[in-house]
Amino acid sequence: MAHEVTFIPGDGTGPELAEATRRVLEATGVELQWDEHPAGEDVYNAEGTPFPERTLDSVKRTRVGIKGPTTTPVGSGFRSVNVLLRKELDLYACIRPCKAYEGVRTRFPETDIVIVRENTEDLYAGIEYERGSDENAQLREFLGGLGATIRDDAGISIKPISAFGSERIVEAAFAYARENGRRKVTAAHKANIMKFSDGLFLEIARQVAERHPDIEFEDRIIDNLCNQLVSRPEEYDVIVLPNLYGDIVSDLGAGMIGGLGLAPGGNIGTEAAMFEATHGSAPKYKGQNKVNPTALMLSGMLMLRHLGEREAADRLERAIAEVIRKGEKVTYDLKPTRDDPTAVGTSQFADAVIEEMNAAA
Ligand code: NAD
Repeated sequence: MAHEVTFIPGDGTGPELAEATRRVLEATGVELQWDEHPAGEDVYNAEGTPFPERTLDSVKRTRVGIKGPTTTPVGSGFRSVNVLLRKELDLYACIRPCKAYEGVRTRFPETDIVIVRENTEDLYAGIEYERGSDENAQLREFLGGLGATIRDDAGISIKPISAFGSERIVEAAFAYARENGRRKVTAAHKANIMKFSDGLFLEIARQVAERHPDIEFEDRIIDNLCNQLVSRPEEYDVIVLPNLYGDIVSDLGAGMIGGLGLAPGGNIGTEAAMFEATHGSAPKYKGQNKVNPTALMLSGMLMLRHLGEREAADRLERAIAEVIRKGEKVTYDLKPTRDDPTAVGTSQFADAVIEEMNAAA
């Protein structure tokens, strides 16, 4: 039976990347039925909303989607489509594999880590009190009563981390490790300083780890983790982090494997899963058939695994890795210099991946 998938091309370079990805996913032979819907800046300009109800309804129904990047204009009234999606569908786990493929220029060729980022809590929960506001004054007065002094010209952001949120994200990290043959989970935190938020995350992580004795567990203080990732990346495997650290380490990981054009992702919840690249809509390259579709293609590969199509996912990953290893039919960002005239476009990269899959068949 065909898998029905919500297909959101996005805006900027999104539609080109999404089309290239759709073609390679279809070439795997897995039966996919696409339910296409808009999100982002273009539909905002046309309909006054960046995320129409019909798009959300489709994801709720199909429970799985793939999405090209969407622009969030600075200073406009509209909220990030990604934040909306995560909130509406409680996509609490962001999974970002960072693997350095052979042929990519990187100082960290041994990197093969998977970042599991909590998506709903922490300083990202949006609980903020503006300097000078009444709420800010009330909160400072209340905290003053508890013996905490905050300067009266301070802005305040609250960092909630719950036992519930910590337990489900660490469980997700162990589940990912088990399903993908990984040997170790590292929990990153700053529990030595933030004892009641990061400290709770660590306490729960240790409890969860006891339920999974077949997978190694360790913890690292976040600053130390960053240091070690760039000195001994081969020692790390699955890394689970609260939201803010996860955000930062995801970009670190993308840099370590050769750039944003290569870093895939999936946002997973109990009701649905949405797969998308780590990078944004790169609007300056819109319509130029130029940018690298690898990150979205690898997100598609993660989606195939999520759908239980492991063999097809492996075939797709091998074909992408082979195109990158050969280094001929690759986009400008994977060439020795950015103005290399032999660079191919987004669509030709997809052709090369399809050729590689056909040749291996
Ligand atoms: P960006 O990731 O879009 O682009 C930054 C630079 O990275 C580009 O100019 C380009 O040089 C390079 N790059 C990005 N993707 C690439 C690819 N596939 N191939 C080759 N090079 C690539 O980041 P930005 O410019 O900060 O953000 C642009 C817009 O995207 C913003 O509105 C932002 O809010 C949004 N955004 C969306 C998502 C998402 O939809 N998931 C994620 C991040 C940012």
